[in-house]
Amino acid sequence: MHQVSVIVVGAGLAGTTLAWQLRRRGRSFALVDKAEAVTSSRVAAGLMTPITGKRLTKTWRYDDLFPTAVAFYRAVESETGASFFHPRALVRILRSDRERSSFQRKRAEFGDLVREPAPPLNPAWFPVFDGFEMPTAAQLDVPKYLDASRAYFGEHCFEADVAPDDIAVSADGVTLPRLGLRADYLIFCQGFAASQNPLTGDLPFRAAKGEILTVRIDGFDERRTVNNGHWLTPAGHGLWRFGATYSWSDFSNTPTAEARIELEIGLKTMVNRPFEVVDQQAAVRPILAGQKPWIGLANGSRVGVFNGLGSKGSLMAPHFAGELADGLGD
Ligand SMILES: Cc1cc2nc3c(=O)[nH]c(=O)nc-3n(C[C@H](O)[C@H](O)[C@H](O)COP(=O)(O)OP(=O)(O)OC[C@H]3O[C@@H](n4cnc5c(N)ncnc54)[C@H](O)[C@@H]3O)c2cc1C
Repeated sequence: MHQVSVIVVGAGLAGTTLAWQLRRRGRSFALVDKAEAVTSSRVAAGLMTPITGKRLTKTWRYDDLFPTAVAFYRAVESETGASFFHPRALVRILRSDRERSSFQRKRAEFGDLVREPAPPLNPAWFPVFDGFEMPTAAQLDVPKYLDASRAYFGEHCFEADVAPDDIAVSADGVTLPRLGLRADYLIFCQGFAASQNPLTGDLPFRAAKGEILTVRIDGFDERRTVNNGHWLTPAGHGLWRFGATYSWSDFSNTPTAEARIELEIGLKTMVNRPFEVVDQQAAVRPILAGQKPWIGLANGSRVGVFNGLGSKGSLMAPHFAGELADGLGD
C-alpha cells in the first residue's frame, strides 16, 4: 500500500485547491477523480464579483477572500507556468428605479469597490446604460487551472470512480485497496455528487442547475464582463460566454430549450448586435443550506467533506481549502 497523508476524492475546484493547500503545508496527498467531461467546475464562468444580485449585496467576506484568492492563484500560476487568473473589471447595468435607488443608498458603503465605468460602455453595442464599474472583479479560467494542476501533480493523481464500498475506515486511517492507497484522512470533494454518498452524512443541498451559452458576436470587442442580471464575459478567440440560469428542480447536466430561450432573450436585451450561439453547457452548482462552504470531518472520523462552494467557488476555494488543510492534524 502507498501511504499518503490525505486522499482527496474529486478534482474540481474544491479538491484541486485542497491538494495545493496540503502541498503547501508539506502534506502528501492522492487526488482521485473520475474524469467527467462536464462538471460544475468545468462549466463555471469563474467570475469573482464584489457586489451581486438584484439587491446589490456586497459579497460575503470579499475584503479578505479576494486578496487570498488572488495571491493563491498567482502563486499556482508561477509554479505551473500556466496563465488562468485574469483581473477583469465588471460593469453592472442598473435595470430599474429600485436598483438605482439601492445603488445610491449603498454607494458610500461600497467605497472603492465601485466607480464610473472607464471607459463608458460603447452605446452602439449597449443601447441602454445606467450603472457602475467594479474594478476589483476578476475571472478564473477554471478548466485551465484544473488541467495545469493535474499536469503538475502528475503521479499524485488517480483516475477512478470511488464508491463507498471501496473505502475501509478504521480508528487510525482510511484505505482504498482498489487503488493501493492508505491515508490518515480521506476528504470527499465531490460537488453535487455528494448528494448520493452515504458517507458524507446527508448534506443539506439547495443545489441549482445553471446553463451558459457560448456565442460569437461580430464587430464586438468589450473586454470587461458586463452584467444586467445575466452576465456577458469574453472567452477568447472572438467568443463570449453569456449566462447563467438558475433551476432548483432539474439536477441533470443536460442543456434545455427553456434555458436557451431565456438566455437568447437576455442577450438581445443587453447587446445591440446579432450573435450566433456556438455552444450551450449545463451543470449543477453545489449550494448548501446557508450558502456557505462546509468543511471538516464527521465526528471522530477519518472521513470528511469540502463542499458547498455554491456559485462562488473561485473566490471561496483558496481560503476554505487552507482552513481545512490547517485543521487536519498531522
Ligand atoms: C453554470 C454555472 C456557472 C457558474 N459560474 C460561476 C462563477 O462565475 N464564479 C464562481 O466562482 N463559481 C461559479 N460556479 C460555481 C462553481 O463552479 C462551483 O462552486 C464549483 O465548481 C464547485 O466545485 P466542486 O469541486 O465542489 O464540485 P465539482 O466541480 O462538481 O467537482 C467535483 C469533482 O468530483 C468528481 N467526483 C464526484 N464523485 C466522484 C467519485 N465518486 N469518485 C471520483 N470522483 C468523483 C467529479 O467528477 C468532479 O470532477 C458556476 C457553476 C455553474 C454550474
